[in-house]
Amino acid sequence: MQKGNISVQTENIFPIIKQFLYSDQEIFLRELISNAVDATNKLKTLSSKGEFKGDIGDTTIEILLDKENKTLTIRDKGIGMTEEEVQKYLNQVAFSSAAEFLEKYKDDANIIGHFGLGFYSAFMVASRVEAITKSYKEGSTGVTWECEGDPSYTIDGNDKATRGTDIVLHISPDSEEYLEESRIEELLKKYCRFLPVSIQFGTKTESVTEGDGEEAETKEIEVDNIINNIAPLWKKLPAELKDDDYRSFYNELYPFSPAPMFWIHLNIDFPFNLTGVLYFPKLGNSFEVQKNKIQLYSNQVYVTDDVKEIVPEFLTLLHGVIDSPDIPLNVSRSYLQSDQNVKKITGYITKKVADKLSELFKKDREDYNSKWADLGVFVKYGMISEEKFNDKAEKFALLQNVDGEHFTIEEYKEKIKETQTDKYDKQVLIYTNNPVDHDSAIRACKNHSYDVLVFDHVIDNHFLQHVEQKQGDLTFVRVDSETVDNLVQKDIETESVLNEEEQNKVKERFEKVVAGGGGTIVMKAMSPEDQPVMITKPEFMRRMMEMQAMQGMAQGMPEMYNVVINTNHPLIASKLMKMRSEEKKEHLVGYLYDLARLNHNMLKGADLTAFVGRSLDFLK
Ligand code: ADP
Repeated sequence: MQKGNISVQTENIFPIIKQFLYSDQEIFLRELISNAVDATNKLKTLSSKGEFKGDIGDTTIEILLDKENKTLTIRDKGIGMTEEEVQKYLNQVAFSSAAEFLEKYKDDANIIGHFGLGFYSAFMVASRVEAITKSYKEGSTGVTWECEGDPSYTIDGNDKATRGTDIVLHISPDSEEYLEESRIEELLKKYCRFLPVSIQFGTKTESVTEGDGEEAETKEIEVDNIINNIAPLWKKLPAELKDDDYRSFYNELYPFSPAPMFWIHLNIDFPFNLTGVLYFPKLGNSFEVQKNKIQLYSNQVYVTDDVKEIVPEFLTLLHGVIDSPDIPLNVSRSYLQSDQNVKKITGYITKKVADKLSELFKKDREDYNSKWADLGVFVKYGMISEEKFNDKAEKFALLQNVDGEHFTIEEYKEKIKETQTDKYDKQVLIYTNNPVDHDSAIRACKNHSYDVLVFDHVIDNHFLQHVEQKQGDLTFVRVDSETVDNLVQKDIETESVLNEEEQNKVKERFEKVVAGGGGTIVMKAMSPEDQPVMITKPEFMRRMMEMQAMQGMAQGMPEMYNVVINTNHPLIASKLMKMRSEEKKEHLVGYLYDLARLNHNMLKGADLTAFVGRSLDFLK
């Protein structure tokens, strides 16, 4: 028997580790199983090179729970360790690297929770750890290393008969949750689901049918419970896979989710190594709920589903798996974003996604159009947040009009070139965020042969401004804004039926009625077919208020709007003029104003009740 002290600079590093890593304790299991997988793969490599000539045999890693003795054991049939190796790897390498790591990052509260302290993490949950191992090397004898969570350890011989390593964790009293089968099963499912070596935990019953026809007999049998799929889809070659394979893998990842629209298989090994598959879910008009479903793996070991530091934020709307051993995990988050490899990876994924969309756009335009409803949010989000994505997406981003037709930005500019250009030669793109509320304004536009687009998602406010900024030669105006009205005026130069004096009189009447609200009266000679009274809002003002509301700022500003009187409408130009009774005139003016407000959802509360009352009186 030998005794010794582990050479670490930091005295009594164990309590620090325990406290420091507390929040992410559970990763110990992943770390130890990863070591077991490594040990197994090393043996396979040696065998393929002819350096190990024996029979590899079954390499299943076993997870054994012994509640009575309060131990959890990770058993592999990998290369094992000789006494020298135990000295070197468990005492020197494992411990010194952990000490160094802690020394470096102990002040950084933002440490990514998934860094892999490896073997050392066992002490987060165990008061005593035994490594019972036997090397694959000929003539080796078993070695047992034991440590009680302080810098002293013991090494002794044992009579282990088979190649490989048992890591026995004597679970400490405050970590007894790891003696629960369900907890271990949960962790295995989370971290080890796609590990490349079979992992067995207990048994399960399976029903098998023997014989056929009437003789068929179904029996329940006990079989090993293998918790992982050692050859996950993303590791296979795209050429070997069918659409159904991708769909069923999606189902494996996200049971009960609606089928994805399409996917990208990522596969690159230079200048960095990355595999994976990204799915485009049907986003619809939702947004937040779908986020953070991408799982990050490193050599098939689950790392995290929080990938915002690794992929641009808009890509977190996608689902799927990214597997890269080249993403540094043992660094703080702020560092990760500036890491060159991570930058390259980000660029690569962004490009792949843009290329896929571009390909779909070119291949089958009709199909692409039909998917836009589920894709639009994603593309817009990407354009706003990623310059490089924007440059590509400008060609396949679509605008949809109230009639359900789709256009690219270029196509749309071409379409409205003749009809919707303002006096500054800017193209005016008219939109509604609510076709139902804006029905009358939309109809008015259509009467003048203007097209109206639909932008009804929260992201659209930003998207519109983004497109305006990028394109430079176009402006978006909401269908109920005064700009649209000006556009109409520019087109049709209508003579006013009323002379100036008459107009002023009408204006005065309206001013009396409108007084107190935030409205300004504007007299306009329009087509007799246009509404008699319309309410328009300055586009700029409205946008500013929307922005403020979105940022949760108090809406202290009074609402400003124009009350536009169409002096050529028969109700104004003729009926109002011909009326004798002052009272009736006042009535008509008030009624027209209320109708306009009703049309714009501005008539509410007592005013609305009074309006209904008056209408009923009138019908009587
Ligand atoms: P890392 O895995 O990052 O190298 P660890 O602290 O997890 O660091 O382990 C240190 C070393 O101990 C490993 O590199 C390996 O050589 C050895 N080791 C750990 N677990 C096993 C095992 N189950 N079988 C064989 N060797 C092991």
